[in-house]
Amino acid sequence: MTQASAYAAQGATTPLAPARIERREPGPTDVRIDIAFCGVCHSDVHTVRSEWPGTSYPVVPGHEIVGRVSAVGGKVKGFKPGDLAGVGCLVDSCRTCASCGEGLEQYCENGMVLTYNSPDRHLGGMTYGGYSSHIVVDEAFVLRMPASLDLAASAPLLCAGITTYSPLREWGAGPGKRVGVVGLGGLGHMGVKLARAMGAEVVLFTTSPGKVADAKRLGATEAVVSSDREAMKGAGKLDFILDTVAAPHDLDAYLELLRRDGTLCLVGAPERPHPSPGVFNLIFQRRRLAGSLIGGLPETQEMLDFCGEHGIVSDIELIPMSAINTAYDRMVRSDVRYRFVIDMGTLGG
Ligand code: NAP
Ligand code: ZN
Ligand code: ZN
Repeated sequence: MTQASAYAAQGATTPLAPARIERREPGPTDVRIDIAFCGVCHSDVHTVRSEWPGTSYPVVPGHEIVGRVSAVGGKVKGFKPGDLAGVGCLVDSCRTCASCGEGLEQYCENGMVLTYNSPDRHLGGMTYGGYSSHIVVDEAFVLRMPASLDLAASAPLLCAGITTYSPLREWGAGPGKRVGVVGLGGLGHMGVKLARAMGAEVVLFTTSPGKVADAKRLGATEAVVSSDREAMKGAGKLDFILDTVAAPHDLDAYLELLRRDGTLCLVGAPERPHPSPGVFNLIFQRRRLAGSLIGGLPETQEMLDFCGEHGIVSDIELIPMSAINTAYDRMVRSDVRYRFVIDMGTLGG
């Protein structure tokens, strides 16, 4: 075992603070990554503050991890020391069930292992995430980062990127499709960029009038302030809507904008449920309400390669590790344009 430096929360109301954690020595199929940058996802805030059930303390968040390989086990084929590498939300799964067989490890029928706050199959206790100096992960769950992309700005692709890419692909975002994205935060701004790069026309819905100009700069044809009822009516019909909002809100306003057979897909995961939408908004026009969870390993690599080809990264604000608690408060106020990324060089020893 080796010691790693980290930032951990000891309870739901205590700020994140420096901590020491243990990492395993790399086994035969493991890759050790020295972490250069880690993105800050709203899921980190939900988990640290126990807004979702099941947080086990101490918790070390972080699942948008990029860095360089510093050691590999004897059977590792795809990585060598010095290579760029990424780790997203998953570090293991059963690898034998039907979902794993299809490369949909996030829907593993026997329980995936999340990068943090999941039972650790090697050391016991819980897994610790990317707010740390290094991490050891089985090669099968390590991603190749496109060398052409800015490394810090590519970290958020590992969660915000794949969480929006996967449903956009599943529901066929592309030429001739009008796609709505609700919420311009970490996920939402990636959704806008990716849907546009796939060839769809994008309409962005926001509660923040100050983000309208940015939405257009990022690739939306239209940006609608959702509190403006007239503008909502004028948004026109959409084939698919991706809802990234981290708080409960009215879904009917969006269902009503779907064409016949259109789908409203929820990826935002608020601590309290949304008010149940009206049945008539579903049965008339045969609309669907769906959800989607991150993405599997093959699709995550596909997304990274797609971003490499199209030059897509996140718009980031680089912060030192010590600014993390302020960053959480700002994220909760929707005051981030559009993803905080921690420079792990500032972690200290
Ligand atoms: P974020 O950066 O905080 O963005 C969320 C956006 O939602 C905000 O920027 C804001 O956009 C909008 N919003 C926030 N509060 C709102 C409110 N009260 N009413 C209406 N809109 C509000 O968060 P994120 O990192 O993108 O994550 C978004 C959600 O997705 C979180 O719940 C997170 O846990 C979840 N998530 C799910 C998955 C998955 O696999 N399904 C993966 C990652 C994250 P505007 O200012 O434009 O309105
Ligand atoms: Zn995330
Ligand atoms: Zn499985």
